[in-house]
Amino acid sequence: MAASGEPGRQWQEEVAAVVVVGSCMTDLVSLTSRLPKTGETIHGHKFFIGFGGKGANQCVQAARLGAKASMVCKVGKDSFGSDHIENLKQNDISTEFTYQTKDAATGTASIIVNNEGQNIVIIVAGANLLLNTEDLREAASVISRAKVMICQLEVTPAISLEALTMAHSSGVKTVFNPAPAIADLDPRFYTVSDVFCCNESEAEILTGLTVCSPADAGKAALVLMERGCQVVIITLGAEGCVMQSRTESVPKHIVTEKVKTVDTTGAGDSFVGALAFYLAYYPNLPLEEMLKRSNFIAAASVQTAGTQSSYLYKKDLPLDLF
Ligand code: ATP
Repeated sequence: MAASGEPGRQWQEEVAAVVVVGSCMTDLVSLTSRLPKTGETIHGHKFFIGFGGKGANQCVQAARLGAKASMVCKVGKDSFGSDHIENLKQNDISTEFTYQTKDAATGTASIIVNNEGQNIVIIVAGANLLLNTEDLREAASVISRAKVMICQLEVTPAISLEALTMAHSSGVKTVFNPAPAIADLDPRFYTVSDVFCCNESEAEILTGLTVCSPADAGKAALVLMERGCQVVIITLGAEGCVMQSRTESVPKHIVTEKVKTVDTTGAGDSFVGALAFYLAYYPNLPLEEMLKRSNFIAAASVQTAGTQSSYLYKKDLPLDLF
């Protein structure tokens, strides 16, 4: 059942410009001095719960920049699920097609981080994997009227592919973030992705090439382009990103500014959410300029701790980004 009918936000009757079909995960984070061995119980010194899931993160960043955004996803009919719905609403995101199910728990990521920053993560995708064709059909009117739709791979790949195909055939610009990457990605993903955006390690898994530098990323981008995408973007952490489009003969490296890094978690999602915002609201801006601005917004997110908590709002950013 969708979480519709709630009294809403001002723009409820308007069409969402950015639609995300993707995941909501609750991050359960324990900080410990070291990682436990098999069978061992140890004390941690801090625990916190965070809102995560690549889909929700990207949607939140786009909404904080001012996008009218809608989240098509599935959470459990449990307290974590209800908290996610509340969080989306707090971020002025439409939850009309945020479904709640009794058949699985809300997706969780149980994370243990030691003092060296090393971690162990267990993801139980739960309700995310129950997002189905019927749900997409119900959300078809919002998907087909969006300006931009984003998908990742934290829901069933077949559902991501179906959503991308649905949007693409309606003329909606599709942004696909193939994360977490799978080596044998269905080739149809490339042809329904207007913008294919991944990080270095995902580019490696998808192409089999080593990606350690902007030059390597350029080579990987060309391989991905040959599979049918219109635009490929590979993010490179502090090195910014590399883009390749059908209109450019060679890949272009878009550098970013040096910043003091506190926590890079979720930087990739901030970047994708920002890019979707620019594609939806500034479609005539050159792609290179959109990427410079997305780099800037993602760089801002690495300067404070947390994932969604580190994403800036439009009001906190320089005016010339808008
Ligand atoms: P994560 O998994 O941590 O969310 P990711 O590996 O998917 O991130 P990255 O390539 O590390 O994605 O980063 C995405 C974007 O964030 C980069 O293209 C860049 O714009 C910005 N960024 C990340 N790390 C830094 C950094 N240390 N300094 C400045 N910008 C950064």
